[in-house]
Amino acid sequence: MPPMKTIGLIGGMSWESSVTYYRVINAYVAQRQGGLHSAQCLLWSFDFDEIQQCQREGRWNDATGRMIDAAAALRRGGADFLVICTNTMHKMADDVQAAAGLPLLHIADATAERIKAAGLHHVGLLGTRFTMERDFYRGRLVERHGLEVSIPGETDRQFVHDVIFGELCRGLTRDASRERLRAIIQSLADEGCEGVILGCTELGLLITPDDSPVPLYDTAIIHAEAAAELALAT
Ligand code: GLU
Repeated sequence: MPPMKTIGLIGGMSWESSVTYYRVINAYVAQRQGGLHSAQCLLWSFDFDEIQQCQREGRWNDATGRMIDAAAALRRGGADFLVICTNTMHKMADDVQAAAGLPLLHIADATAERIKAAGLHHVGLLGTRFTMERDFYRGRLVERHGLEVSIPGETDRQFVHDVIFGELCRGLTRDASRERLRAIIQSLADEGCEGVILGCTELGLLITPDDSPVPLYDTAIIHAEAAAELALAT
């Protein structure tokens, strides 16, 4: 069997979703290679409170510096490519990739490829306010991949953001929040979205395909599978 590449995971944002990455990546490799095979990977796991403080206070340069340091540590450890295990922190993906001098598997690209392969064009996007509102993510889906991307209205965006940081990143899943998210997904579908991107790596901990009338694109799972696939590619 050809040697597999070493995946460098930048995680802990939050650790709740890094667990998903670790599980999906290893399961994918085990399923493809059989026997006792599992993925060769390194995980840098942040203290998320420090990162969230940078986000809240708009100290994006500090956050970028920390991400670059993490990437450098993974490179020293032998990583062949980088995977940032959160949508929001792809805000500095280009800087991290350039500073580390390693390829980076972008979460929005992996997700867009899946959506295009399914023949969809118009999708809804749920995530943190940063992901839904700033250009680094939505803009990439539109400009680079030609997708039409809708987001919920202001009040619903704040609600999704608060559920992510107040509940899901703390390991809490509440039925009432699931109900309201279902309604938000339904209104995106009513607007004409043919699918909805779970553009936050914790959303899949609360929402499943049963909660949606249209296909859901869970970025944590898609990204983790793409990482495993790349690690096995010759
Ligand atoms: N994991 C989340 C995401 O995919 C939010 C946490 C963060 O701000 O990094 O965006």
